[in-house]
Amino acid sequence: MATNENGNYRGKVAFVTGAASGIGRATALAFAREGASVVVADVSEPSNQETARMIEELGGRAIAVRCDVTRAEDVKAALDKTVEAFGRLDFAFNNAGIEPKKAAPTAEYEEEEWNRIIDINLRSVFLCMKHEIPLILKQGRGAIVNTSSGAGIIGIKGSPAYTAAKHGVIGLTKAAALDYAAQNIRVNAVCPGYIDTPMMGRFTGGTDEGRAKVIAEEPVGRMGKPEEIAAAVVWLCSDAAAFVVGHAMVIDGGQTVQ
Ligand code: NAP
Repeated sequence: MATNENGNYRGKVAFVTGAASGIGRATALAFAREGASVVVADVSEPSNQETARMIEELGGRAIAVRCDVTRAEDVKAALDKTVEAFGRLDFAFNNAGIEPKKAAPTAEYEEEEWNRIIDINLRSVFLCMKHEIPLILKQGRGAIVNTSSGAGIIGIKGSPAYTAAKHGVIGLTKAAALDYAAQNIRVNAVCPGYIDTPMMGRFTGGTDEGRAKVIAEEPVGRMGKPEEIAAAVVWLCSDAAAFVVGHAMVIDGGQTVQ
């Protein structure tokens, strides 16, 4: 699969946010399978430590760090721990995010909920990149992948904040990609469709009916698996993607093609 100059990611270090669950956990495991040492960062404990344990069980190297990605001091401390533990940073997957509590049209959308969604889904990506980039620059090369969504490609009725945040992640990704392309840091985004994670379980209410409604929107007739996003992230960080810069990769079973 993904290779670097050594044929794998051995000796490389990946930082993954939202690693306690879903897409983040699957991606942390995928980096570890490729040989990278992984720092798993999340607010959710003990699930985050569980991800680190799963990596160790694979024979990989990992540390778990409690990090609220909306707090600059947490992000900085988590990255300091990364360098302390593994000496460097090569790849970052800025993925932690939340779904809206409920749908509401724009004029009725609560300001507090707007702030919460923008804070965790967009401002956090800026904060993470702000503190990751100086560390990656020290290696002379590296890659960052940010998690957007199908909601970064199309508008979602009743979801102004999530739609704005995920469109914002793509804009931010493009700006950062241009800022650092000449310094060998590639910044890209992934835009998952409906992926079968705990977040999706909350979204569907965990019922057969809720799941069926979501699946009906997927031309492939199923939800995606977290591993299908993980594979794209690992590829985007690899040398096979050396000419892929500022791209928002849609992995959604055709959902936004319709
Ligand atoms: P998930 O299963 O809920 O995992 C997200 C993780 O992020 C959770 O462990 C969550 O902890 C953590 N988190 C939340 N707020 C945080 C904060 N402030 N700091 C650090 N960690 C925080 O969700 P997922 O489905 O894997 O989603 C991952 C990303 O993909 C999100 O950005 C989401 O918007 C995006 N996405 C998901 C889908 C999908 O269908 N699943 C589709 C498109 C995009 P808690 O559980 O304690 O909140």
